[in-house]
Amino acid sequence: MKEIIPGINQLPIPIPHNPLGYTNIYLVQGDGKYLLIDAGVNTEEALESLQKQLAEIGIDLKNISQIIVTHAHHDHYGLAGRLRQLSGAKIALHYIEKDLLTSRYTNMDETMRQSEQWLHSNGMPSNGQSPYRTAFTGRQRFAEPTLPDITLRGGETISNGTFNLQVLWTPGHSPGHICLYEPDKKILFSGDHVLPVITPNISLQSQSDDNPLGTFLNSLNMVKQLEVSLVLPAHEHPFTDLPKRVDEILQHHEKRNSEILEAIKTEPRTAYQISGEITWMPELGGVRFQNLALWDQRAAVSETLAHLEAMRINGRLKKIQQNSLIYYQPA
Ligand SMILES: [Zn+2]
Ligand SMILES: [Zn+2]
Repeated sequence: MKEIIPGINQLPIPIPHNPLGYTNIYLVQGDGKYLLIDAGVNTEEALESLQKQLAEIGIDLKNISQIIVTHAHHDHYGLAGRLRQLSGAKIALHYIEKDLLTSRYTNMDETMRQSEQWLHSNGMPSNGQSPYRTAFTGRQRFAEPTLPDITLRGGETISNGTFNLQVLWTPGHSPGHICLYEPDKKILFSGDHVLPVITPNISLQSQSDDNPLGTFLNSLNMVKQLEVSLVLPAHEHPFTDLPKRVDEILQHHEKRNSEILEAIKTEPRTAYQISGEITWMPELGGVRFQNLALWDQRAAVSETLAHLEAMRINGRLKKIQQNSLIYYQPA
């Protein structure tokens, strides 16, 4: 628990088996009531950590009236349902995230089948019993199929008497990702959209936005225009120079594009083959694709595909199909 400014506290909530370590959730004080921004993972440890940190400043879960979730990933949305049961708070989420939750959790088998088939056609080996299925189910266990009470579209202002939070729809990292902007205090709650050190994963999925990287870059340029003196991200630490950080992220993606173009210079390759040529997690010193956990390999191929499709849409490369596999080559 750390007081950022009077009325805003940051609560790091542990995420198991994740190099990020914590989700920062934020407690925003209003007239006698409190808002939470994000909820953390659905584990006993996370719930205990949250309750303990609230108790340090004499707050009970029952004092929380609303939980605004930036996007439906398990490390942000996972605990929302249990917090609602314990506090009576209403959950607010962008409507696109709600739709994704519905398809992810109610059509789990179909979603997984489509996704495996799609990765397979992009070169990912599928040797009978898929280890990815296990990874996917393991990950899913952290989030309950909870639906929000309030759906957001972007453009709303959520006021609690002290703070006025403008809802900004910032798709890219997730199609219905939102940031919250406090224009008087010049504070941006950035969720996973802008983090100070790591670059958020931008993945093409088998059934969503067909150019998430292009969408993400537009959302980055959108927040860059805001007058912001403090950014409060959902991981890592608060930071101040938003335009500089946006430029670094733009450069990171341009560098990744160069690595990809280099990988297909001599012959067409699948997204899976190209992923093997890329240095992953450069912020953490760089990891070879072969050394990534299976779940992360899958995420890496989806991320490569986001770059490939963005460059295909820009006319920088094209895709060809051979023997039911998709290959990319320079245009
Ligand atoms: Zn996320
Ligand atoms: Zn996250």
